Amino acid sequence: MTIATTHDAATALFTALTGAAPAGVWSAPGRVNLIGEHTDYNEGFVLPFAIPHRTVAAVGTRDDSRIRVASTFTDAPVEVAIDELDRLFPTPTGKTPAVPEWAAYPLGVAWALRQAGTTGSGLDIAIASDVPVGAGLSSSAAIEGATASALNDLWDAGLDRTALARIGRRAENEAVGAPTGIMDQMASMLGQPDEAIFLDCRSLEAVVVPVGIAEAGLAILVIDTRVKHAHSTGGYGERRAACERGAAIMGVPSLRDVSVDDLARAEELMDDVTFRRVRHVVTENQRVLDMVRVLREQGARAIGDLLVASHASMRDDFEISVPELDTAVETALAAGALGARMTGGGFGGAAIALIEQDAVQRVSDAVTAAFADAGFIEPVIFTVTPAAGAHRDA
Ligand code: ADP
Ligand code: MG
Repeated sequence: MTIATTHDAATALFTALTGAAPAGVWSAPGRVNLIGEHTDYNEGFVLPFAIPHRTVAAVGTRDDSRIRVASTFTDAPVEVAIDELDRLFPTPTGKTPAVPEWAAYPLGVAWALRQAGTTGSGLDIAIASDVPVGAGLSSSAAIEGATASALNDLWDAGLDRTALARIGRRAENEAVGAPTGIMDQMASMLGQPDEAIFLDCRSLEAVVVPVGIAEAGLAILVIDTRVKHAHSTGGYGERRAACERGAAIMGVPSLRDVSVDDLARAEELMDDVTFRRVRHVVTENQRVLDMVRVLREQGARAIGDLLVASHASMRDDFEISVPELDTAVETALAAGALGARMTGGGFGGAAIALIEQDAVQRVSDAVTAAFADAGFIEPVIFTVTPAAGAHRDA
């Protein structure tokens, strides 16, 4: 879907819902993380960029104090009274939301804004998206970012982009109940064409870094394995707990405070599993810093080895890869990619590969063939370029 089609879909859904035109249309992108995985909640470094795929929210105000959300992904709109939000959320840890899970993203944004002291009139919110869902490309941050941008304007909240990213994160953590970090929301709010966002997840200081992938004659291929991950359940929370345990053993507030030089001591103090979780985070933080330096000093052609090392660390130390992701990475490399790695939280989702621009078809075909040979479902493969962050579109 192009952005125009997604806009049309959101606007058409709004009109079908209300019989009127929306007051405005806002959108926010998904993201790819170039490097820095599971470092965000350890107060470390990440280097994501926003992608051209976007989630669009067509929104209008109502005369009453109710919020209704609808999405092209589902037949059933969800409607609640605004003051009911304070009873519905937060979602207790380990529980599922009191509303259908997808609706907890946009309604959670409204709740988080109220928690931050802003509220306003009732709203109708119609959502359409071409961000693949559950693929590690952060359709969740996209729906949060589009909704947060709309409500920021319609409720006159006056929040800046970083504050809106925090609102989105709070919705995801406390309303949906998914214990994710701040990276996705920051990338979706702050993205800029041709730039990656070098983010310090402790200070939330963000610096744009030109990636120069197209200038180098290269492309980033996304290989969506279509293996769905689930953040609110599964291994994500367990990995977070291991990181907290590791930090506690090292006597620091977070793994951000452990350096590569400290790893020998960490190995003496910890059991093997905790140590390997720690080693991933510590070396991954260093790889983000190295990547920023290499991009600045040598350009995109020189980052391949860092991508490969990041994947190996997630496969062997953090143990969040799956056979489909490993096959995608290995096949892309064998077909000539300069580097490749799984991207996003793991346990499924997508891999990225840095390839020559003229190799898109060849690498895609090789990966598709390898998936067929292995008996995996057919992957969805496309290229991405760094794109603009959240904004009002109409
Ligand atoms: P990812 O962010 O990698 O795509 P998540 O599990 O974090 O995966 O978020 C996906 C969830 O976000 C979906 O299962 C759904 O609940 C919600 N979501 C995302 N986009 C939409 C949309 N356009 N309409 C409705 N719900 C959506
Ligand atoms: Mg997500």
